[in-house]
Amino acid sequence: MFSPSLWFLLTALGCTLAFIEIPEEYLAEIREDQAGESAAGEYNYDNQGDDWQGTCATGEKQSPIDLIFQDSKVSSISRLRFNYYNQSLRTPLVITNNGHTANMVLPVTRDGHRPYINGALLPGDFEVQSVHFHWGSRDSKGSEHAINFERYDVEMHIVHKNTRYETMAEATQHWDGLAVLGVMFKSVNRLTTQHYGLNKIFNQLPRIVEYQSNATITGQLNVGQLLGNIVTGQFYTYNGSLTTPDCAEAVTWTVFDDILEFPHRQIAKLWNLRDSRRKPLINNYRSLQDTNPGIRDVYYRVIQDSI
Ligand SMILES: [Zn+2]
Repeated sequence: MFSPSLWFLLTALGCTLAFIEIPEEYLAEIREDQAGESAAGEYNYDNQGDDWQGTCATGEKQSPIDLIFQDSKVSSISRLRFNYYNQSLRTPLVITNNGHTANMVLPVTRDGHRPYINGALLPGDFEVQSVHFHWGSRDSKGSEHAINFERYDVEMHIVHKNTRYETMAEATQHWDGLAVLGVMFKSVNRLTTQHYGLNKIFNQLPRIVEYQSNATITGQLNVGQLLGNIVTGQFYTYNGSLTTPDCAEAVTWTVFDDILEFPHRQIAKLWNLRDSRRKPLINNYRSLQDTNPGIRDVYYRVIQDSI
């Protein structure tokens, strides 16, 4: 069941956005995503997740982890395939401050296709669902994964659901339910006109400072723009978990080791968001988890000419 505060949010969302003509199908997807978020219950990042219970505390395939080249199995994995990633999405898109992150449910393309990924070590076809961010503060980095002992300023997660499952709720109950792409951002001081899609998204952050606020993003956006100009042929991949409660071990992770450079003034907008307690929403990352190499392997794909 929805909590009263969620009903308020949904009503407010409907009213606020009514005049911009958000398709009912997309609104329903946003509602489902928000119901999933509230089903996770109350949690915060005061202890970087070390006080979370259940699978978060007992699981042996948890995320995030330190991705270390020397400890990885370097193998000839086939490339990751991006389908409909360069097709324009139906707009406007809605971005929400859900108290834990800035989250955007991704709609279908203008042609009605759901962008999806397959290939690499993915056990199936995975449709894109949503995108969100983890960040630090003025004084600390905020990525969740580390690469060769190094953490980065921001980590973006593009969440996908296996097409064999109907809903996110169902997918999280299976080891092959979800696939998440992780992209590291490094803050740079120069202004850049690169990354059109990401800049459009970050330009709306001042409008979602308060918990449960929403903003819309219009214009020609596609999922591929989220990846900026990074090389997608080299990545770490392993079986892990959601990095928020209930920490379900349902995720095939793919984390690119090419780093996206993004303006400091855009990243700084994340630090102004506020959580449900009206406290600054900063350092919303979970601490590093044990890799448990006896239980799972981390693979690294290098670019090969023939594949
Ligand atoms: Zn995440």
